[in-house]
Amino acid sequence: FMEDKSAKIFVAGHRGLVGSAIVRKLQYLGFNNLLLRTHKELDLTCQSDVEKFFSDEKPKYVILSAAKVGGIHANNTYPAEFIAVNLQIQTNVIDSAYKNGVKKLLFLGSSCIYPKFAPQPITEDALLTGPLEPTNEWYAIAKIAGIKMCQAYRLQYNWDAISGMPTNLYGPNDNFHPENSHVLPALMRRFHEAKVSGAKEVRVWGTGSPLREFLHVDDLADAVVFLMANYSGLVHMNVGSGKEVTIKELAELVKEVVGFYGELVWDIMKPDGTPRKLMDSSKLASLGWVPNISLREGLIDTYKWYLQNLRQ
Ligand code: GDP
Repeated sequence: FMEDKSAKIFVAGHRGLVGSAIVRKLQYLGFNNLLLRTHKELDLTCQSDVEKFFSDEKPKYVILSAAKVGGIHANNTYPAEFIAVNLQIQTNVIDSAYKNGVKKLLFLGSSCIYPKFAPQPITEDALLTGPLEPTNEWYAIAKIAGIKMCQAYRLQYNWDAISGMPTNLYGPNDNFHPENSHVLPALMRRFHEAKVSGAKEVRVWGTGSPLREFLHVDDLADAVVFLMANYSGLVHMNVGSGKEVTIKELAELVKEVVGFYGELVWDIMKPDGTPRKLMDSSKLASLGWVPNISLREGLIDTYKWYLQNLRQ
């Protein structure tokens, strides 16, 4: 993979948090034949459009980072869209990629595929051992189907499809929507707006006690390239930072990075979601990949991006 810098690589979802980081990374490494389509140019939920795209373009590699994503509120509010859109996108892309001779495909999911009460840190073999966290089970079921589809195509057709399951990601091009985003961008925006308006307090959802692991998306992009180059196996691969913080600690850190000096108010009417979600990424570490961006550095970088892109 690393040698063939002019190989045609389709990065699906290149405008999103994950896809844009993968494109930055591949370009930095000198890959010069990236195949990119906006949502408007190619609707990945439309099977015939996806099939035509693959038969016209014949990419050599596919990185599937297109998905309908969102935080706890969005998952709860749009369950039908979360399951249907994600199943459609991944089924269309994986099947057309296989049928059109793609050499290798990497499918991206999320740590929410694991059971709510999986032993922590969560190893890959915890998949399908218990009930899911109800607030995001729609998305999770779709992602589990994607992993299984990659495994099935490997088993039946000996096709090189792999899956990476990142922990909670953040970074440039994240969704900073006040209600529908994930906790980190939501808090960054809320603290920023409170700072600008001179507000005395900022509302944070839940109790602050849930534990979450965060990974900067540039670290994930690095891991994706590593997996494309070094891994061809049946089992999906966890990609985490190995470091967890409580939501309260996260809120304090974001507050400090943004420079807001008011109070935090906990809105306990909002759901906490799963109590703890730390992945065991030792399988990936044993292959030789480790992350290198700390949460503090990553937050500073993301806030810089946010300030530069406020008007977009
Ligand atoms: P999750 O990791 O799938 O639960 O997704 P989220 O990133 O949406 O939420 C993580 C945790 O942060 C949950 O315990 C939320 O209740 C908490 N949280 C605190 N404030 C916010 C907020 O403003 N937005 C979101 N999405 N979550 C928040």
